[in-house]
Amino acid sequence: MEQQIKKAIKAKMPTYIQQLSKLVSIPSISFDNFDQKYVLESAEAVKQMFAEAGLTNIQFLTPESGRHTVYAESLTSPDKPTILLYAHHDVQPPMREALWNTKPFEATVSADGERLFGRGTADDKAGIIMHLAALEQVRALKKNDGPNLKFIIEGEEESGSAGFAGILKKHAELLKADAVIIADLGNFAKGTPSITTTLRGMSAVSVELKATKAPLHSGSWSGPIPDVGQVLCRMIAELTDGTGKILIPGFEDGLVSPTAEDLASYRSLGMTEEIFRNDGGVLDGVKLKCSEDEILTTLWRKPSLVVTAMEVGSRMNAGNVLQDSAYARIGIRLAPGMDADRCTQLLVDFLKQHVPYGIQCNIVTEDGANPFVTDTSHPFFKKMSDAMTAAYESETKIIGCGASIPGAELFRSTLGNIPVLMTGLEDPECNAHGENESLYLPDFEKGIVAETLFFGGLC
Ligand SMILES: [Zn+2]
Repeated sequence: MEQQIKKAIKAKMPTYIQQLSKLVSIPSISFDNFDQKYVLESAEAVKQMFAEAGLTNIQFLTPESGRHTVYAESLTSPDKPTILLYAHHDVQPPMREALWNTKPFEATVSADGERLFGRGTADDKAGIIMHLAALEQVRALKKNDGPNLKFIIEGEEESGSAGFAGILKKHAELLKADAVIIADLGNFAKGTPSITTTLRGMSAVSVELKATKAPLHSGSWSGPIPDVGQVLCRMIAELTDGTGKILIPGFEDGLVSPTAEDLASYRSLGMTEEIFRNDGGVLDGVKLKCSEDEILTTLWRKPSLVVTAMEVGSRMNAGNVLQDSAYARIGIRLAPGMDADRCTQLLVDFLKQHVPYGIQCNIVTEDGANPFVTDTSHPFFKKMSDAMTAAYESETKIIGCGASIPGAELFRSTLGNIPVLMTGLEDPECNAHGENESLYLPDFEKGIVAETLFFGGLC
């Protein structure tokens, strides 16, 4: 059976690559400063593919921004399990076009045939085609008697999913399912099937300090008047110790430690300091803040604070000026178990308590994202893990992700605590969000096999 599925999918790969290339040709960048007609065009293209595949109840679920999420379903029987399949059809901008070796919106296979280059190939248009291909395959296999499948393809993931919570809440009945597959992550390495079981969350604030009405001559005024640049640096420095531990009292309350199974899987991934340094482009002589053994747990299971932007005067006009204001944006990645709203409030309170000299301090908070942990005890988790092991002919790894996908927690909380299976077709070389994004084609094929085997094994 397994060999038959693998053969059938291999034979169809040129068609699947062609479908993917069609979606890649539409520059569906969901940022306001780009022409949004392409997001509509890609929503229409997805809709048409769904119609051609014989899906039913096809409709746009449209958030306030107008960037359609596309819904469709293939229902077999109320007695069968229902799986909700997520991916997104919008993409990031191409960034610096001069650095692309191929045209960003013209899917191009590499000379060795291994990778497909183009914006959105890996993130996340391949996810759409993977779901669609697995549907086609399981229908053939089960003679239309497989699980019920519902598709939800978002149109504004890359620009922050502002309307997605509203869509899930409004259409909770339509989207009702026994599990959701979020195909927007990826494999730890090429050929290594991976299920992401944890995501970090995010608390972010912008802080602005003001001490004088306008910038002043530093010779005439500095000394008696506090320098907002130094003050802001000290305030930020007080937030962490030398290892990066957050010093705000109670901030790490609730932090969930990795299980023995998590740790064993992380260890089996063979991450070394050398690999990590190379992948991250860490300069010679710069030391990591954790030991080699702790790299993955630090990245996936601990909070980390980053000053993502800072402004005191400007580099262009760096003269002897006592600046009137200093600005910084602080983002803290939250680890599983922590609560975003609570952490943001603690951060704001701590900063406000540490402003010296009565300096004016204005803090603007952003909407946070809660961290996420998948319930790995659900039988669907093991079924997916086994399906991926069989498809890749390599043991499936449990991995974490240091970033946030707000959708994961939204699906879980809106759709009644259903299991969230996070898979996907990215790999460390795919360069999602950067220039020369690409998809590793052998894993594209294996991903389709895995999802087909998973569906096939459900009923
Ligand atoms: Zn994505």
